[in-house]
Amino acid sequence: MRKISIFGATGSIGESAFDLISRQGGPLAYETVALTGGYNVARLAQMAVELRAKCVVTAFDACLPELRGALNSYGARAQSIKASAGAQALIEAADQPCDWALSAIIGAAGLAPGFHVLRHGGTLALANKESLVTAGPIFMAESAKYGATLLPVDSEHSAIFQTLVGEDIATVERIILTASGGALRDWPYERLKTATLADTQAHPNWSMGQRINVDSASMFNKAMEIIETKEFFKVKPAQIEVILHPESIIHSMVAYQDGAVMAHLGAPDMRHAIGYALHYPMREKLPVPRLDFVALSQLNFKAPDLTRYPALRLAHEVMHQSGTFGAAFNAAKDVALDGFIAGQLGFMDMAPLVEETLSTLMRSNSLKNAPLSLDDVVQSDHLAKTTARVLAQKFS
Ligand code: NAD
Ligand code: MG
Repeated sequence: MRKISIFGATGSIGESAFDLISRQGGPLAYETVALTGGYNVARLAQMAVELRAKCVVTAFDACLPELRGALNSYGARAQSIKASAGAQALIEAADQPCDWALSAIIGAAGLAPGFHVLRHGGTLALANKESLVTAGPIFMAESAKYGATLLPVDSEHSAIFQTLVGEDIATVERIILTASGGALRDWPYERLKTATLADTQAHPNWSMGQRINVDSASMFNKAMEIIETKEFFKVKPAQIEVILHPESIIHSMVAYQDGAVMAHLGAPDMRHAIGYALHYPMREKLPVPRLDFVALSQLNFKAPDLTRYPALRLAHEVMHQSGTFGAAFNAAKDVALDGFIAGQLGFMDMAPLVEETLSTLMRSNSLKNAPLSLDDVVQSDHLAKTTARVLAQKFS
């Protein structure tokens, strides 16, 4: 039986993976080594019991008694499940060998567990784009060093990966990332500054977590994905294009030097990308909606407006600088996002805050362009968060 672990099992991606695994027999088909989550310990315990997991971890120490209580409520069915909490427990779970692990924690917290999984050389299905944004070169190097199989789970990157099967990356001219434009895409520019958290959550096509819904509306998500593309596929920033495609049917495209463009199409359902990574290199049946081209009738495309989406410009600045700029960019973006979610920052204040944080750190020579270590990444993350929190006060 294949041994699996899911980091961030209770999130939007984790739930989709759980759904696929459960439909395929759950504990009869897979041996679950570890499941991790955060505050939602009742759901985490339920998943652990259903999959008969060996160990279950909440990222937060304060949630451990509640997790143990939730497990106890299952009586004998939960007796052999080891429960633990905290960052070190997450690492210990990542150190347990498994054949397939899903990195679906949100934010920079996903980086360290992913690193540890790579070290036992199995397959890491990577939804946590922050791993590549903050530490792309060392993450990819670690994967190569230990002979791990790294598979993208972000829908765009899964699409590109699938489109590249059997092709030579040297023959690629352009990679075209598609973007839905998020919940506010039809709002007039002037109105965007009044957008609330609730406004950003009504994503037109995808069902996702709260944070990524905001990032999708601001295009910070696409900015991260540009960087993710550069790191994963090792292409030049100038080869990466972003195009608005409101239907989210084409998940991305690869244009080759002979003029051919290969596109990956499918219903907007993350279970496709997760299922592809789960069964790679095979294609198994997946419970995703099938496309009806006649019902669709047309697909639309538009160039993104960089005034409306300053995050896209910032992504190019980060790639130009490289080094620890990705970690600082991600950290400042997370502070801006926290501020917006808390109602302390306006929707259109997020990008200026990120930009000002990066300029402040550049002026004080606090960021490194040179090759980086994991410690450099962690330090830049802390520094950028502290700086962004101070600067955020100007905006509130
Ligand atoms: P989510 O917020 O729904 O879930 C996040 C998971 O991480 C939960 O299990 C939560 O308990 C856990 N978590 C939160 N904070 C943590 C911490 N500090 N330490 C450890 N665990 C923590 O997020 P999501 O939407 O499922 O996204 C997960 C990752 O996948 C993100 O990197 C996101 O960018 C990426 N992604 C998501 C989608 C999507 O459709 N949701 C699509 C592509 C990529
Ligand atoms: Mg995506």
